[in-house]
Amino acid sequence: MIPFNVPPFVGKEFDYINLAVKAKKICGDGEFTKKCDALLEQMTGAKKVLLTTSCTSALEMAAILADIKPGDEVIMPSYTFVSTANAFVMRGATIVFVDVRPDTMNIDETKIEEAITDKTKAIVPVHYAGVGCEMDTINSIAKKHNLLVIEDAAQGVMSSYKGKALGSIGAFGCFSFHETKNYSSGEGGAILINSEKYIEQAEIIREKGTDRSKFHRGQVDKYTWRDMGSSYLPSELNAAYLLAQLEEAEKINNDRLASWNLYYEKLSELAKKGVIELPIIPEGCEHNAHMFYIKTKDIEERSRLITHLKANGVGAVFHYIPLHSSPAGQKFGRFSGEDKYTTKESERLLRLPMYYGLKKEDIETATNAIKEFYK
Ligand SMILES: *Cc1c(COP(=O)(O)O)cnc(C)c1O
Repeated sequence: MIPFNVPPFVGKEFDYINLAVKAKKICGDGEFTKKCDALLEQMTGAKKVLLTTSCTSALEMAAILADIKPGDEVIMPSYTFVSTANAFVMRGATIVFVDVRPDTMNIDETKIEEAITDKTKAIVPVHYAGVGCEMDTINSIAKKHNLLVIEDAAQGVMSSYKGKALGSIGAFGCFSFHETKNYSSGEGGAILINSEKYIEQAEIIREKGTDRSKFHRGQVDKYTWRDMGSSYLPSELNAAYLLAQLEEAEKINNDRLASWNLYYEKLSELAKKGVIELPIIPEGCEHNAHMFYIKTKDIEERSRLITHLKANGVGAVFHYIPLHSSPAGQKFGRFSGEDKYTTKESERLLRLPMYYGLKKEDIETATNAIKEFYK
C-alpha cells in the first residue's frame, strides 16, 4: 500500500534529540527552540516567531492577542480545519463563514466585505494546500474596516504570496508542525508576530501568563503573573526533531515540488479532456506542494475512485467536511451569503499520497490507476 502520508525524517533528528537530553534541558525555550525560532524568522521575515505546541495553540494565542471577546464576529472560510474556528469560539466569538473560490479553495476575497458587521473583529484567511489567499485585497479590506488579519498558514510553511512568506503578511500567522505537514515535530506549531507591539504580550501568554521569558533573559529579577495565558511552549525534544527538518527545508521543499509536478504532468491529459480538474496556482503565489489534489465530477464518482485506488494499493483521501454543516458550526457560526462552492467543491476534492521521499514509481502507480478508472 502506498500510504497517504509518511511523517518527514531527514537524518539528524535523533542526534539533536540526544544533544538535548545530554544537555539536561528538555523543557521549553532551550537552545533548540531558540534555533527553530531564529531560523523561522530568517525564512519568513516575521518580526518574531515563537514555537508553540501546535497550530491550534498558535491560533488560540492569536485570538487572545486580538482581544476577541464574547459577541465579536470573526470571518473565515467554512472549508477549513476545526481549530481555525475553535480558537475564536473559545473566546466567545461568533464565526461568520464566507464562501471559497473554486480555483484555490481559499476564502473568496470578494465576499468578505458583505460579511462585515459592526461586531466584526478579525478576518482569518486559510492558505489551503499552501497556496496563498488574495492577501492584498484582504489586507486592504481589513485596513478600511479596522480589522485584524490572522493567517492560518498551517499548510503554508515555505510558501509565498508576491514574494512574502505566508504567515508574515497579516498581524499574526500560524504554522503547524503536525506529522501530516511538510515539516514536523509530531505535534507542534509556531506563531508569527508581524508587529513589534504584540511581542511582549505573546511571550507572556505563551508562558502561562507570566514574564518568565524576560526573567530568563535577565530583564527582570523575578517572574510573576502578568496576564491570562496557558502552556503553549513545546518541549526541547520536539524542537530538536523539528530543527533537523528546518535546516533541510529547501531539500524537503524541492522533493515535494518534484512529486507535485510529476503528478501534474501525468494527469494533465485527463484534465485537458475535462475528465478531472487539477489544482490552480494563481499568479504571484509560490506554493510548497503541501498537497496534491484532483477534483472529480461529484461525490459519487469520488467515492468510487477512492475505492478503486485502495484496491490498487493507493491511499487516497477526501478532506474537510465544511464547518458550517457540522453541529458545532451551526451552534457557533453562520454562513454569510450563498454557499455556492464550499459544499459542492469540497465533495469533489480527492487528495493523493504526498510526502517527503514519495517515489516516482508510486506516483506512476497512482496516476496509472486513475487513468484506468476513467478508461
Ligand atoms: C493542520 C491544520 C491545523 C491544525 O494544526 P495542529 O498543529 O494540528 O494544531 C489548523 N488549520 C489548518 C488549515 C490545518 O491544516
